[in-house]
Amino acid sequence: MRARIAAAAAAAGRRAEDVTLVAVSKMHPEAAIRAALAAGQKHFGENRMQEAMEKFPDLKAGHPDLRLHLIGTLQTNKARQAVRLADVIESLDRPRLAEAIARAIDEEGRTPALLVEVNVAEEPQKSGVARSAADAFIEACRQRFAEALRGLMCIPPAGRDPAPHFAWLAACAARHGLPALSMGMSADFEAAIAHGATHVRVGTAIFGPRG
Ligand SMILES: *Cc1c(COP(=O)(O)O)cnc(C)c1O
Repeated sequence: MRARIAAAAAAAGRRAEDVTLVAVSKMHPEAAIRAALAAGQKHFGENRMQEAMEKFPDLKAGHPDLRLHLIGTLQTNKARQAVRLADVIESLDRPRLAEAIARAIDEEGRTPALLVEVNVAEEPQKSGVARSAADAFIEACRQRFAEALRGLMCIPPAGRDPAPHFAWLAACAARHGLPALSMGMSADFEAAIAHGATHVRVGTAIFGPRG
């Protein structure tokens, strides 16, 4: 995986160090995560708060440099748990969640990095702020969270060419002066790196199929 990331970065004239591999460990047991940690992997992604709460408090206690990314839809009533446990919340996508996260940051005295998730193809079943509403929402989050707002995340439609969506997200981040771009999964991370991804979220290609 690291060799493929390095090759994709080199092909794009980028440095491999500028692409962070987030190993998506959802539905995989703690043992698989421990094996990845032993191999030097530091960033992990989970999409459900409940599962993250079951697996990660112990892992983080034993590995202070582990970084947990929450990449799934976050319910407002889980915002406080998320702020307590996550190092990066990649799924900030609506004003009520922004309010809940802001309140949790005050209460917990801890500030994870935040990414705004954009529904780049405006698919009705997907979370993320609609692409047409993204600029206004990003600006509001910038006002509220300042430097904690680090960048953007997207999950393009399956089975179609993701490149135009990656390009759109990169341009949107540049327009807002945001440094982080989380895009690309097992099937398309190389294309995402070509379009400037700083974080790729890879599950299946690392851990194998999910049970
Ligand atoms: C599951 C998941 C991934 C990883 O997908 P793979 O195809 O297994 O690499 C990436 N991002 C999000 C948001 C996910 O839910």
